[in-house]
Amino acid sequence: MSDPDPDPIHATLREYFGFDSFRNGQYDVIKHLLNGHSAAAVFPTGGGKSLCYQLPALLLPGITLVVSPLIALMKDQIDALSTRGIAAQRLDSTLDAETHRQTIDQACEGKLRLLYVAPERFNNERFRETLQTLRISLFAVDEAHCISEWGHNFRPDYLKLAGFARSFRAERILALTATATEQVLNDIRRGFDIAEENAVRTGFYRSNLMLLTTPVSEAEKDRVLLENLRKQPAGATIIYVTLQKTAEILADYLQSKGFQCKAYHAGMKDEYRSQVQDWFMASDQGIVVATIAFGMGVDKANIRYVYHYNLPKSLENYAQEIGRAGRDDHPSVCTILACSDDLTVLENFVYGDTPDSSAVQQLITHLFSLETQFDISLYSFSSTFDIRPLVLRTLLTYLELEGYLEGGTPFYETYSFKPLMSSAEILSQFHGERKTFLGNVFRQAKKAKVWFNIDPSRAATTLNTNRERIIHALDWLSQKQMLEIKVAGVRHRYRQLKTPNDKQTLANHLFQRMLDRETAEINRLQQLVDLIGSDSCQTAMLAEHFSEILEQPCGHCSWCLTGKVTLSKRINHSIPVDIQSKIQSIVVNSETDNIIEIPRVLARFLCGITSPGLSRSKLTRHPLFGIMVQVPFKEVLEWAENL
Ligand code: ADP
Ligand code: MG
Repeated sequence: MSDPDPDPIHATLREYFGFDSFRNGQYDVIKHLLNGHSAAAVFPTGGGKSLCYQLPALLLPGITLVVSPLIALMKDQIDALSTRGIAAQRLDSTLDAETHRQTIDQACEGKLRLLYVAPERFNNERFRETLQTLRISLFAVDEAHCISEWGHNFRPDYLKLAGFARSFRAERILALTATATEQVLNDIRRGFDIAEENAVRTGFYRSNLMLLTTPVSEAEKDRVLLENLRKQPAGATIIYVTLQKTAEILADYLQSKGFQCKAYHAGMKDEYRSQVQDWFMASDQGIVVATIAFGMGVDKANIRYVYHYNLPKSLENYAQEIGRAGRDDHPSVCTILACSDDLTVLENFVYGDTPDSSAVQQLITHLFSLETQFDISLYSFSSTFDIRPLVLRTLLTYLELEGYLEGGTPFYETYSFKPLMSSAEILSQFHGERKTFLGNVFRQAKKAKVWFNIDPSRAATTLNTNRERIIHALDWLSQKQMLEIKVAGVRHRYRQLKTPNDKQTLANHLFQRMLDRETAEINRLQQLVDLIGSDSCQTAMLAEHFSEILEQPCGHCSWCLTGKVTLSKRINHSIPVDIQSKIQSIVVNSETDNIIEIPRVLARFLCGITSPGLSRSKLTRHPLFGIMVQVPFKEVLEWAENL
C-alpha cells in the first residue's frame, strides 16, 4: 500500500474511480469547480466528461444535481457509481411512488452525493420546493448544447434550467457537451454565467479517423456500400440512415448478402433494441444499420467503420456520429455515401417544424382567452392548432421565459386500475371513514373490460374531497398489491402572469423566431454540403468548425487522398402542370376545416410532410399526399402562395 496521497483530488481519483491519472481537461475543470467557479467542459464523446462532476460530488459539502436527458444513461451511471460505493440515485418517470419518496427523503437527509434528473423534472412544483431546501453544491448539465437554439439538438426544457439553477441557489454550475461551436459555447456560457477562462475545450481532431466521401447516386448506393463492406477487413460497423424504414430494408438486404447485420431504431420495442445493442457490444464484426437513436449509450472502443448511408443533418451530428469510431485509437474509416437527393428529406424535416403564422396567432388568441390558471393537453392542442408537439412546447417555453406564463406540475387526466382481488376483499381491510371513502372512490370509476377508469379531478369534485387524496389512495392500494394502476392523458398546468399588450405583435414575434430557426437549420445542412465539396482538407475544415486549427492538412481525408470531391447535382423535379385542378378537387371535397387552403399547409401536403392537422383530417392518406416529394419545399410554398 502506498502512503495516502496529499492531494485529495488525485487520492479520490484513485480510491473511488481506480484511475491513475486524469484525461485531458478533467483536472482543469475539476480545479475550477473546487475553486468555487462555474465551468464548462467541451470534450469529445468518450473523453471522460462524467468524472468532472462525479469526482467533485465527493469533495463538495452539498449534493450534486445532474441533469441529463437520457434515462438509460442515468441508470448505467448510477449502477457504476453504486458499485464504487458512491451514493447516487435518479428521479424519473419510470419510478413508482414509493421509490420516488424514498429518493427524495434520502436527498433531504443528506444521504446522497449525486441525484440525476431529466430536465422535465423541474416542471414539477413539489420537486422545485424540495430543491429550495437542499444545499446544491454543484448543478451539472449534461448535453448542455441543448440550451442553444443555434445548437443541433435544441430542447425547450433546457432553456429554463439556468433560471432554475439560480432560484435553487446552486453554488456552481458545470455545463458539459461533446459538440459546441463557438456560438453555441457562447450561448452556454452566457446562459449559465460561466467565465471564459473556466470553459475548457479539449482537442477535437482524431488522427486515427480516415474521413472519406464517396459521391453516389441513389441507384448506386447499395452496390457501392456492398463493395466497400466486401473489400474491407471485417470489423464492428455502424451504418447511419435517416429513416427507420431504411434501417429495416437495408439491414434485410445486407443479411441476404451474408453479413451479420441488424437494424436499430427508435420505433423498435425497447427489449429488442437492447438485445441488438448487447449483441453489437459483444461482437467484433457485427453491423448495425441505425437511425441516430443509436449510439447515445454506446461506449464501444473497437468500432472500425462508420458509414453514412444518408447525409447527416449537420456538422455537429456528423462529428458526434463519427466520434463513435476508433475509441481505442486504432485506425478507423468513416465514409459518407454522399447523394444530394438526400437533402430533400432532411430539409422537409426542418420545414415540417415551422407552423403557419395563422396557427401561431390562433394559439396565442386562445391561450390568452383562458382563465388565469389553466391546464392543457399538448397532444390535443397540437392537433387543434396544427403545430408539432415539440414546437408547441417551444412556443410555450418562450411564453414562460418572456414572463407571460409560469408552468406548473403536469398531471394525468385519467387513472385506470385493475383490481387484483374483489372490491369486497379490498374494502374488508378498511374501517370507518376510510372504508366509506374508498367505496365511494370505486363507485366513481367506470368499468371497461378489465380496467376501471377514473378521472380523479371530477371524482374529487363529486365526492367533495381533493384530488391528491384519491390518487394517494390508489397509489397505496397499488403498493399493497391490491390493484394495478395505469395513468394516461398528461396535462400541463400554466398560470398566466401577464397579458400581452397586443396579441398580434406577440404572435408575429413568435412566428419570426420559428422562421429564424428554420433558416438556421437549412444553413446547417448547407455547411455539410460545403464540407463535402470543399477544396481543402475536410478534417481541418471540420475541426475549424469546432474552433480547432490544424497546422497542416490531415493526409487521410478524401481531399488529401484524392482531391476535390464533387457532389452529383440534385435531381430537381418541377411542379406538375395538371396539379392545380387536382388540388381544387381536394379543397372542394374536404369535409374538414379546409386547412389545406393555407398555402403552407398545402405545400406540406404536396411535399409529403406530415403535420398533426394533416393527420387529423386524414389528408396524409390522400393519394395526392407527397405527390411533389421531389420538388424543393420552398418552390412549392412559393407556388402555393401565388395560387
Ligand atoms: P463522455 O461523457 O465524455 O462521453 P464518459 O464520462 O462516459 O465520457 O467516459 C468514457 C469512459 O472513459 C468511461 O468508461 C470512463 O470510465 C473512462 N474514463 C473517464 N476518466 C478516465 C480516466 N481519468 N482514466 C481512465 N479512464 C477514464
Ligand atoms: Mg457523457
